Amino acid sequence: MTMPQSNFASQSTSLRPTGCPMCGGTERVRRLAYLRCTCCGHEVLETPQQTFITNEVLNAARIRATTMLDRHQVGLARRLMRRPGAVVDVGCGPGRFLWHIQRYGIPAVGVEITSTCVDFATKTLGLDVRTRWPADIVAPALVTFWHSLEHMPLDALTATLQAVSQTAAADTVVLVSVPNADSWLSRVFGKENTYYDNPNHVHQFTPRSLDACMASCGFERCGSHPSWLYSWVGWSLSLLSAVGPGHNYYYYTRKRGTDFGFSPAKRHAWNAALTASAPVAAAIGGMLTLLDLAVPRHAAVIQQSYQLSSHAPAADRPRQQSPGSPDHVAP
Ligand SMILES: [Zn+2]
Repeated sequence: MTMPQSNFASQSTSLRPTGCPMCGGTERVRRLAYLRCTCCGHEVLETPQQTFITNEVLNAARIRATTMLDRHQVGLARRLMRRPGAVVDVGCGPGRFLWHIQRYGIPAVGVEITSTCVDFATKTLGLDVRTRWPADIVAPALVTFWHSLEHMPLDALTATLQAVSQTAAADTVVLVSVPNADSWLSRVFGKENTYYDNPNHVHQFTPRSLDACMASCGFERCGSHPSWLYSWVGWSLSLLSAVGPGHNYYYYTRKRGTDFGFSPAKRHAWNAALTASAPVAAAIGGMLTLLDLAVPRHAAVIQQSYQLSSHAPAADRPRQQSPGSPDHVAP
């Protein structure tokens, strides 16, 4: 889910090392475990660190099974692609998105640093997953960050986006999906927000801070793609988290296989109680989702797409031609 700092340590940092890293604001206030910029709302973990997580049970049958979220992600990705070409998924985990988009004949490469995920994706699913940015991929049609950008310490985040900008063509689209620090969900549930993940989330973006982050590496926003599904899941799971025995108990036991150190009997009792409550949580979550749809800047999850900025200095313009360009040279 995250990128190694060492892979890109030699590259420069264009984001600001002091104050708010996204907008340069100097006034920040403490909010839970984070420092929040009073200007752009960006939140940075007070003591950021690189963590390594596996956000899936490593089971091939489960990953190959198509869920509503898989349909949403693949459908959005396909709509955003402006031409045929490769997709690079950064922070691909065990390769769920890669597996499902490859089924449409789209060449896909993943980048991941958690070794157990890389092993599973390459050896069990047969996917092309690297531990660093794939230098041999020229002018990808689409680069995706499905809930990975918030995991990256600042220097890794900067270096990764710089690598993307140096590989991108003018028609390359970069899609970023991250939790929203300005969401109603975050305000209502605080630490019980299902998308609150301390210490794994180094950053908590707002729509504005994500724009500033991407602009610092030469990108401009070209689209916003609010997701009712992420909102519905967020509200419903947060309700279950609030009544459960630990943060995200219901979600983590199913998605990550976490046992919370509980005995089998205790897990069984909690699982039965929360499963019985799930339809009620889903119904209430569905109603609260209407809030997100009414005011997308306060939705649970930010989904915004970017392209190389037409205003970037000439020296920072794309170095690559798309495969369809007459100037394109295959690697
Ligand atoms: Zn800021």
